Amino acid sequence: MSVPPPPNWQSLADDTVRYLRDLIRLDTSNPPGNEMLAAEYIARVLRAAGVEPVVIETAPKRGNVIARVKGDGRAAPLLLYSHTDVVPVERERWTMDPFGGEVKDGFVYGRGALDMKGITAMQLAVFLAIARSVEREGLPLRRDLILAATADEENDTNQGIGILVEKHPDLLRAEYALSEFGGYSLHIGNRCFYPIQTAEKGNVWMRMVARGRPGHASIPQADNAVVHLARAVDKLARMRLPARITPTSRAFIAGLAEGIGGGQGIALRAWLDMDALREVPLHRLVGDPGLAAELYAVTHDTVVPTVLRAGYKTNVVPSSAEATLDCRTLPGSTPDALIEALRQSLGNDLPVEFEVDSSGEAIEFPFDTPLFKLIERTLKQHDPQGIPLPYMMTGATDAKHVAKLGAICYGFSPMQFAPGESFFEMVHGHDERVAVSALAWGVRVLYEVVRDFCVTV
Ligand SMILES: [Zn+2]
Repeated sequence: MSVPPPPNWQSLADDTVRYLRDLIRLDTSNPPGNEMLAAEYIARVLRAAGVEPVVIETAPKRGNVIARVKGDGRAAPLLLYSHTDVVPVERERWTMDPFGGEVKDGFVYGRGALDMKGITAMQLAVFLAIARSVEREGLPLRRDLILAATADEENDTNQGIGILVEKHPDLLRAEYALSEFGGYSLHIGNRCFYPIQTAEKGNVWMRMVARGRPGHASIPQADNAVVHLARAVDKLARMRLPARITPTSRAFIAGLAEGIGGGQGIALRAWLDMDALREVPLHRLVGDPGLAAELYAVTHDTVVPTVLRAGYKTNVVPSSAEATLDCRTLPGSTPDALIEALRQSLGNDLPVEFEVDSSGEAIEFPFDTPLFKLIERTLKQHDPQGIPLPYMMTGATDAKHVAKLGAICYGFSPMQFAPGESFFEMVHGHDERVAVSALAWGVRVLYEVVRDFCVTV
C-alpha cells in the first residue's frame, strides 16, 4: 500500500493560523453564544474545499457543524470534536482586542486562542488536508474521519454536542474521539511532560442547608442557622476524604515521579506505593504547591464551598442558611456515597442537610489502546525527551456527552509551549494567546496521528 506524501507543513500551519484568526473575530461569547457565526464560517471553508457539511441550529443562532470524509469501512470512525463558544471577556483588562485576531510577537491574541478555537482551527486544517489527500491522491482511509464543531460547552444549556448525541447519534458515532485538554507540553523542573486526558472527574453541585430557630437578633441564641452553616463550612474546608487512585492517576503519578527523579520523584513514588503514606499532605512531598494541589485533586473526591446565602435583615435571625458546594468526584464515586462521607465528617451535632442540584458522572477510558500508543509514539518522534502521560481532567468537558456514544475519548490537541508558558494558566485569562509556533508544531503532530490512525489501524 502506498501512502501519498504529507501536505506542505508550512501551508498546513498557515491555514491553521488563518482559520484561528477568522474564528476569533466571530464573537461567540457564551452567554449568549451566537455559535452560528462559527458554524457558517466553518461550513463555508468546508464547501470551498468540496466537502458538504451538515449544519444544525439547535436553538436560534446556536449553530453546530458536522462533516465526514468516508473511509472504506474496515474500521469504525474517528471523531475530531471541538466547541466554538468562548467564555466572556473583561475587555478593559486586555491589552489587545479580544476579538481582533491580531498577531503580535509571534502570538495570535484573542478569546478562544487556547480554549478552544486554536484547536478547532487545527482540527479543521487536519480534516481538510486529509479530505484533499483522499480526493486527489487516493489516501486509503480504513475508517471515516468525522469533524464536529459545536455550540455551548462553556455555559452548558444543552444546545451543543449533548443534544446532538441524543438527537443525531448517527452523525457522531465513533470508536475513538479526540478533543481538548491534553497534548500540551507541561514543563516541570527541567523535564517536559505531555498530559493526555484519559479520564475526567464527575461533578456534583449541591447545597448544604442549615436550619435553626428564627427570631429577633437582640437576644442571642445557640440555635442559629448562620452559625451552624459557618461551622459546617469550616469543617468541610478542613476535611480530607480518603485518597483513591484510579489507573489514569496511577500512570500519571508514576510517570511524573520517574520523569522528575531525585528526592521528589522518590517521595512521589513512595506516596503512590505505600498506603501508610497516603495521609501525608502532598505539599510536604512535592515542593511545588500548584502541582501538589493538582495531584490532590486527581486522587480525592473534593468539596469546595463557592456561594453563601443567609439572612435578609440585620436584626432578624433567619431560619435557614445555605452554602453551594462544588464537588468533583472520582470515577466510581456516587453522589449518595459522597453525601454520606460529608455527614460522617460533620458529625451529628450540626443540623445541616444536603440537596443535589445537578450531577455528571466521572469517565475514564483505557489507555492500552492502539490510538493511545500511536499518540505516544508520534509525540516521541517530535519531542524525543518529552514524556506523554495519561491524565485525569478535574473539570468537565464535552467528553462526558461523547462518551455516551460508546467512544473512547482522549483529550489530545498537541501544542508545544516554551518553558514558563502554561496552558492552564493562560486559559480563560486576559490576553489569551497562543504562539504561532505552538500551532505549527501541533497541527503537524495531529495530522500524523490522524492520518496514521485512519490509514493503518
Ligand atoms: Zn474548552
